[in-house]
Amino acid sequence: MARQKRSDDWGFPRWRAYGSGRGAARVRLCDRDGCDRPGDRPAPKAPNSRERWYFCEAHAAEYNKNWNYFAGLDPEEAARRAADEEQGASGFRRSAHWQWGGPGDGSRSRDEMRALDALELDSDAEFKDVKAAYRRLAKENHPDVKPGDEEAAGRFQKVQAAYDVLRKSEERKNGKA
Ligand SMILES: [Zn+2]
Repeated sequence: MARQKRSDDWGFPRWRAYGSGRGAARVRLCDRDGCDRPGDRPAPKAPNSRERWYFCEAHAAEYNKNWNYFAGLDPEEAARRAADEEQGASGFRRSAHWQWGGPGDGSRSRDEMRALDALELDSDAEFKDVKAAYRRLAKENHPDVKPGDEEAAGRFQKVQAAYDVLRKSEERKNGKA
């Protein structure tokens, strides 16, 4: 493959001919600084944002890991879910309870609702339910129990982050924070 001319790297996003000869196709490069692999994994720049990064597989995985505190949730899936919810795509409003003023007592923020969802709890779960779910899921997915299991590790992080959100909100409610 011919050495790329410097000028190919100008501008943003970066594009480059990939492959060689007749089969060469211009592909968008990974948005990660210094990465020269094709960026074919779109990832929202922010929750519910239409703007996308385009990463290679490795950097998409890295980005997903740092994806807010719901570390195990793939950004594309998160965006798709959000869109489904807005449109009621599956025939019923799967998580109308995520919205302000939905079912429940309306005192939960969207983050808290997502945290409850991550712990497989309903919007009216009490803090003792949160603790129980956290203990159960953390145990199930603990790195000591599932060594080398990346997915379990992701779930473990997500569960911890979700518990953190709910614990803090509980402390705020009780005036301890
Ligand atoms: Zn990359």
